[in-house]
Amino acid sequence: MRCYIGVGSNLGDRQGNIEAAIQGLREAGGIEVTKVSSIYETEPVGGPQQPKYLNGVIAINTELEPRQLLLALQKIENQFGRERSVKNGPRTIDLDILMYGEEEIDEPDLKIPHPRMHEREFVLKPLRDIVQG
Ligand code: ADP
Ligand code: MG
Repeated sequence: MRCYIGVGSNLGDRQGNIEAAIQGLREAGGIEVTKVSSIYETEPVGGPQQPKYLNGVIAINTELEPRQLLLALQKIENQFGRERSVKNGPRTIDLDILMYGEEEIDEPDLKIPHPRMHEREFVLKPLRDIVQG
């Protein structure tokens, strides 16, 4: 299935964190990274006062089912010592499933397409890059 993954970081070596997360995706079983967008610096949206983000979008082909893919992304996030303390708070790495083919999923812990995607220019801009580019 063709999927789009949003990646973001606003703590530590942001560019390095994003590159390492992409490498983690390349090494994960059942995931083929096909395209990586430009990485943009963006203002934080919501949450506490916090540093600016770097954001990008990654196109993948995957054999994993949506829930397996979510687990694979969370495993990569955890490898970076991500702590989920503050909602919308700063994070070393964030990996979100933006789209999973044409599928629509609306469950408490998994919503696809990502519900806040359409209002987030920091997602839409890199997404346009790789969909059109
Ligand atoms: P954020 O909403 O800022 O990305 P988190 O990364 O901490 O916050 O994610 C919180 C929860 O969002 C996760 O535990 C996950 O179950 C849920 N979630 C729901 N839909 C998605 C999705 N499409 N991609 C990733 N996580 C999702
Ligand atoms: Mg997330």
